[in-house]
Amino acid sequence: MSENKVVQADQLTRFMFDDCPVRGLQVNLQQVWQHVGHNKQYPRAIHQALGELTVAAVLLASNLKFEGSLIVQVQGTGILKMLVAEATSSATCRATARWDESAVIDEKINLVDLLGEGGMFVLTLQPANGESWQGVVELAGDSIAQMLMNYMARSEQLATYISLAADEENAGGFLLQKLPEQQIEEDCWTELTALAETIKSKELLHLDASTLLYRLFHEHEVRLLGTEPIEFACTCSQAKVSDMLLLLGGEEVGEAVAEEGSIKINCDFCHASYVFDETDVNTLFGQDIVQTARQQNH
Ligand SMILES: [Zn+2]
Repeated sequence: MSENKVVQADQLTRFMFDDCPVRGLQVNLQQVWQHVGHNKQYPRAIHQALGELTVAAVLLASNLKFEGSLIVQVQGTGILKMLVAEATSSATCRATARWDESAVIDEKINLVDLLGEGGMFVLTLQPANGESWQGVVELAGDSIAQMLMNYMARSEQLATYISLAADEENAGGFLLQKLPEQQIEEDCWTELTALAETIKSKELLHLDASTLLYRLFHEHEVRLLGTEPIEFACTCSQAKVSDMLLLLGGEEVGEAVAEEGSIKINCDFCHASYVFDETDVNTLFGQDIVQTARQQNH
């Protein structure tokens, strides 16, 4: 078996401990991650961080109590401006990054240096129906997993341990969380997280859930609760791009089409391309905005 072929890739496995009130999640992404990661020419360090953030979004969204999506963003002030990953309650995800593409990036540069000072970690919950909710903390830690655990600790959520890894082909992650409203012996939590800390990136990337769990916790009673497939999906659409153009306004859109002949919007997540020509934008705005722009230019 080649090391790159995970037996059960692109799925999330839920488990719990029978001897300790702790639940867990493990996820392996392969096709999904390659689809996201090969969309742009990401520099190595950004590619790895984006893979880890994608896995993090999938892990966190698997516990959503509503229909909708969860978005995690890491915002930087350095070469790296933003990493964003979104996962939905229907087990789909998408992700992208924005950075200074003109910068020369050292092969060995780390995530903290790429992000610069004063970055933010932002988590948004976006129900399909209802108000969205956002939590923001300053970035702390030198990896996506540590930034996320810092966020969880700062926002007083249940004690959570997270481990993440990504390379060109695979992205994997692992989460342990204390169950709510249950007494837990600190010793038990300390022992489980100490065991979890021994996970190597290679194991997160290449082992399926049962092998990984046996390797780590064979002295505990672990119960597998089931698996679900994870898929890539983008929520961009002609209608959403139309709304965005309407927000830009007839003057700006008319001017662009008068100059270029059409206006082209690329989705940053899936690279779908939406082209609106003169007839399209005039129909959208219900008036001849292109002719108006031409007249104003003369
Ligand atoms: Zn898209």
